[in-house]
Amino acid sequence: MTKWVYSFGDGSAEGEAGMKALLGGKGANLAEMANLGLPVPPGFTITTEVCAHYYANGRSFPDDLKAQVDVALKKVGASAGAGFGDKGNPLLVSVRSGARASMPGMMDTVLNLGLNDLTVEAVAGRSGDTRFAYDSYRRFIQMYANVVLGVPHDHFEEILGGYKDQHGLSLDTELAAEDWADIIARYKARVADDLDRAFPQDVNEQLWGAIGAVFSSWMNQRAITYRRLHGIPKDWGTAVNVQAMVFGNLGETSATGVAFTRNPSTGEKELYGEFLVNAQGEDVVAGIRTPQEITEKSRIASSSDKPSLERLMPAVFAEFTDYYTRLEAHYRDMQDLEFTVQEGKLWMLQTRSGKRTVKAALKVAVDMADEGLISREEAVARISADGLDQLLHPTLDPDAEREVIATGLPASPGAAVGEIVFDSDEAESLKAQDRRVILVRVETSPEDIHGMHAAAAILTTRGGMTSHAAVVARGMGRPCVSGAGTIRIDYKAGTMTAGGAVFRKGDTITIDGSSGQVLKGAVAMRQPELSGDFGTLMAWADEIRVLGVRANADTPADARAAREFGAEGIGLCRTEHMFFDEDRILAVREMILASDLEGRQRALAKLLPMQRADFTELFEIMRGLPVTIRLLDPPLHEFLPHGEEEIAEVGAAMGVAPDLIEARVNELSEFNPMLGHRGCRLAITYPEITEMQARAILEAAADAAAKTGAPVEPEIMIPLIATRAEFDFLAERIRAVAAKVAEEKGVEPVYTIGTMIELPRACLRAEEIARSAEFFSFGTNDLTQTCLGISRDDAGSFLTEYVAKGLIPVDPFVSIDEGGVGELVTIGVERGKKGRPDIKLGICGEHAGDPASVDFCHRAGLSYVSCSPYRVPIARLAAAQAAIREKDGSEQHSTD
Ligand code: ADP
Ligand code: MG
Ligand code: MG
Repeated sequence: MTKWVYSFGDGSAEGEAGMKALLGGKGANLAEMANLGLPVPPGFTITTEVCAHYYANGRSFPDDLKAQVDVALKKVGASAGAGFGDKGNPLLVSVRSGARASMPGMMDTVLNLGLNDLTVEAVAGRSGDTRFAYDSYRRFIQMYANVVLGVPHDHFEEILGGYKDQHGLSLDTELAAEDWADIIARYKARVADDLDRAFPQDVNEQLWGAIGAVFSSWMNQRAITYRRLHGIPKDWGTAVNVQAMVFGNLGETSATGVAFTRNPSTGEKELYGEFLVNAQGEDVVAGIRTPQEITEKSRIASSSDKPSLERLMPAVFAEFTDYYTRLEAHYRDMQDLEFTVQEGKLWMLQTRSGKRTVKAALKVAVDMADEGLISREEAVARISADGLDQLLHPTLDPDAEREVIATGLPASPGAAVGEIVFDSDEAESLKAQDRRVILVRVETSPEDIHGMHAAAAILTTRGGMTSHAAVVARGMGRPCVSGAGTIRIDYKAGTMTAGGAVFRKGDTITIDGSSGQVLKGAVAMRQPELSGDFGTLMAWADEIRVLGVRANADTPADARAAREFGAEGIGLCRTEHMFFDEDRILAVREMILASDLEGRQRALAKLLPMQRADFTELFEIMRGLPVTIRLLDPPLHEFLPHGEEEIAEVGAAMGVAPDLIEARVNELSEFNPMLGHRGCRLAITYPEITEMQARAILEAAADAAAKTGAPVEPEIMIPLIATRAEFDFLAERIRAVAAKVAEEKGVEPVYTIGTMIELPRACLRAEEIARSAEFFSFGTNDLTQTCLGISRDDAGSFLTEYVAKGLIPVDPFVSIDEGGVGELVTIGVERGKKGRPDIKLGICGEHAGDPASVDFCHRAGLSYVSCSPYRVPIARLAAAQAAIREKDGSEQHSTD
């Protein structure tokens, strides 16, 4: 016979905390508290297996469930000294849902079940408090009718409100027994009217109605949506808890409250909670009356004139202090507690891991490790790596007033205030005058890079989470809201219309990239705090992790940020961003437009000192840490002007006929630039570009080493290699340049030459490529595009639908596609090691800052990941968690 029902109470229980899958979180923890000897009202849990049975059998219960419930109910009655439905001494119960993971979409709790027109009189007689009995009954009618029978709340609020108006009453506490009796009659009439049948008087009908409603709520829309958003499997099911009522509404010596064992917003080690005298259930959170503080300390802090529980009920407070201290030590985590005091006696109604802010999570984890309650590994494992992002950027002051004018996607976290500017060049020139600007565009393109860099934040009205604006902003650590579709931009007029108002260029707005909000005016900010608990936890993570963490950094500012965030080197420096700079683009265009080698070399000679200066600065900042520099990658046409106006402007500046420029633009334009003349293919056509870059790198390395005294060993990286022949062709030229530099400088440069692995063929032929290449860096952005045959820029129109329809679990550009792209990486690693056993293996690209992808990189045996500077701490933590997971063979950790 299957056991469907597990009892608890009176100092023991059939279940325990480890049985969350079967009993749900609430049921398992009620059992655990009972086992610990804490005062828990007796009750029983109907298992999640009943839920599974219910749905597998056309919403019907197992045959023997009723008998098991009857037995358990008798036991509860015996313990509570009452009988369910007994006209002389009735047992009242609560019916509470409780899934494995706490789930807001589920049925609300029904309290005081078992009351009807007869039992209410018995309760009145036995308690000697008619008002209490009627107050409980009216609560029950309203809750049951709403939660189980679907009568809207306001039908009852209307009645209560009308009654109060009619009798000049305002607070519930002012209503006497007769008032409630009158209201009960009106409530029942309203239910009968709404449902065409009377409110159920049969207590068993009440009980099974409530149990059925809990199981049915597993499949309501709210619950389904919540499960989808949080990845909770449908077949987990919910449990149902039936528990003897204890009454916090039995006069002035009764109360109900909620508490956290530590402060959930700061993590401070101090009890934090509220209670209400003469109240029941969720009155505290419902906000009908202002709750009182539990501790005297927080009463003083909040300058409340109502007494604390500590003062009002010192014995109860002392007992509660004993319980919460024991519970926290037992669960080894901050707990969220519910309790009720019935006529001076304390009852515990719930305990669970308390939800907390990221800041509090850090403090609690570090404190508990210092207290010896948990190990450092556990502390590291408990912090959500993704959540850490919130701490790394300035955020809006939660107490500041906000006027939201539009909401888009939270594309890149952090908040910023600035004046509106619609043009990237203008953004740059205003920045040069030390003004803070927000770049507002319909969408952005590679030509806006300088404007995005100059801006404090970016706002677009079109595009999703993987749009150009979103990806680039995340890489740069700029807050970004994308796809704020209700905003209308008029570039010509220099205005944007949002929330019914017109904003002009120069007007101040605030962007919150963490919530997607666009706000009017300047909202107050809070700066990130990188020392303290954060620094401590990161140091622990660094001790645990095996994987190295580097940053992708193109500019001195990026490199400085990378060091500040703890990067151990630069894994990817993209040289093309240097080419886009305003004072260089002209020389770049000259090179592209040159009709012969000589002309090209003349232009390259102009670029050489600029590139050398860039690299020198980068090497100096990195002081001997490894730096990987990727040779020019994008197709040349990206550097050319577009549109008549721009072409004319550039033509005039360069003294070249506009037709010539236009002809060259047309010549260079491609159908699929992503698969076109780019990467090493460009270098093979124009080896002189590679030679110039190699010279700039090697000379800069020598200069920086001489200046700082720290030896620099640059890693020169060739992009988009498909064959070993391509690699050898270019490596030979780089070595020739190195020989020349050695001769000129009189020192032998130390450097390595490696490649990006971003084409499937390169993964497959990794063994032979590794015979030539000294390191690999997996470029998983391009590898994802080429493996799946999806261009990231065009994926927006269908990938979100794939995710929504459940065809793929996540966007493969956000989290690495382990089955496909991951297998290519694994093949590349294995074969690469065959070709060169000590080969250095890294990954760069957006994935390197994604915790799930970092976990994969750890398992795949890579040496390091390289992500944007602002995600370096996330990668450090994720790498440590990957190492811990491997060690104890566990799955993803979380605090819930
Ligand atoms: P939730 O999951 O929404 O917190 P709960 O089942 O915990 O729902 O209950 C809602 C409220 O009712 C809580 O304040 C809880 O303490 C109270 N409550 C639940 N069962 C009882 C009971 N048997 N006696 C008194 N109060 C109860
Ligand atoms: Mg609730
Ligand atoms: Mg609760």
